[in-house]
Amino acid sequence: MRVLLVLVGFLVAQLGSPPERAIVAAVDANNPDALALLEKAVNINSGTQNFAGVKAVGDVFRAQFDALGFRTRWIDGAPFHRAGHLVAEHPGPSPRILLIGHLDTVFEKDSPFQRFEKIDEKTARGPGVIDMKGGDVIIVFVLKALRAAGVLDRLNVVVVMTGDEEDTGDPQALARAALVEASKGAEYALGFEDGPGDPRYAVTARRGTSSWRLEVKGVAAHSSQIFRSDIGAGAIYETARILDGFRRALAGEEHLTFNPGVMLGGTSVDFDAAQSRGTAFGKDNVVAERAIVAGDLRTLTRDQLDRARETMKKVAAESLPHTQATLTFGDGYPSLAPTEGNARLLAMYDRASQDLGLGPVAPVSPDRAGAADVSFVAGEVKSIIDGIGLMGHDDHTPGETADLRTLPSQTKRAALLIWRLTSGSKPSAR
Ligand SMILES: [Zn+2]
Repeated sequence: MRVLLVLVGFLVAQLGSPPERAIVAAVDANNPDALALLEKAVNINSGTQNFAGVKAVGDVFRAQFDALGFRTRWIDGAPFHRAGHLVAEHPGPSPRILLIGHLDTVFEKDSPFQRFEKIDEKTARGPGVIDMKGGDVIIVFVLKALRAAGVLDRLNVVVVMTGDEEDTGDPQALARAALVEASKGAEYALGFEDGPGDPRYAVTARRGTSSWRLEVKGVAAHSSQIFRSDIGAGAIYETARILDGFRRALAGEEHLTFNPGVMLGGTSVDFDAAQSRGTAFGKDNVVAERAIVAGDLRTLTRDQLDRARETMKKVAAESLPHTQATLTFGDGYPSLAPTEGNARLLAMYDRASQDLGLGPVAPVSPDRAGAADVSFVAGEVKSIIDGIGLMGHDDHTPGETADLRTLPSQTKRAALLIWRLTSGSKPSAR
């Protein structure tokens, strides 16, 4: 007689203490409420420019933090031309932790993509469902689980949900002042973006992104005289030399990219930077007098950014005869450089995940991680991870889809991490 042995795999959680088990139980018990809050938040349009909608989503989350006993306030966004931000604080004796979310989405009021739609038990589609209302909901239910386990009281935690992550307000320094202020004194910062969309990875480094503009002047003359000693090469040849010089000097450096995105050249050019469009006029029998190029620059560290800018300036300064180039750099999103602290924090998150039976978590390549709000606190906080929100795929598109199975699992991982960071409790030995 054949005996068929069916091995039923089950996950043995390595949870060290009663609070850890209580945290897990609370997340499971609360999951229907978490799903309901997600649906409610997604169904409010909060495209960055829909200030009333962003504020309305802020009100929904504010009520949650009020109920948890947090001190909440709305930072008015008028000074930086956006809706504003929600800040919720809970003072306590533990090391300070900053939790980062955002209320806005890329889907404006006139987008056809407006509603939460449950596809099946494990899938839902909706604007901002993973980027990042799902992450915001996870923040709330992490805190609820910590309260249920009786450990919220001692937490020193501040939550910032910005209203303009997808299109940062201007001036940027004002638009991120509340976030930077909240990060002061924080030992840890956790960002709940959807990140790589895969729960096996989280973000410990993000490249910064900034802009540059090249303006070139040449001497107008009849084309038949180009290259003559008193006329030179003209603005368009000089621009071509500079761009190719950038590529020769810098292409291939790890984590560095730079891309000229738009270019105009001729006798006269008219560039509208805000719209990123323009017009050019020129004739094939006239040496070009003007050229403009606008591009971006992505780097992993401030040092890499500074070095790349220096190289670009040097290339631009080696002017062809009778041309003159001006290269200017704009500030964009700073980078989240990979640090020891970030790596250690990820190691603890990975440990929490494995203890929950949810598998290991590795750092995603920074080349795959776009810019996000955590980068603004990199100068203040030593240990930062991001991309630990609700997982899914196709954010920023009308196919934005959440894997709802990751709602409780991501909540448990973050809650356990925060408990361990703030309780001084050691995870069980393995
Ligand atoms: Zn986002």
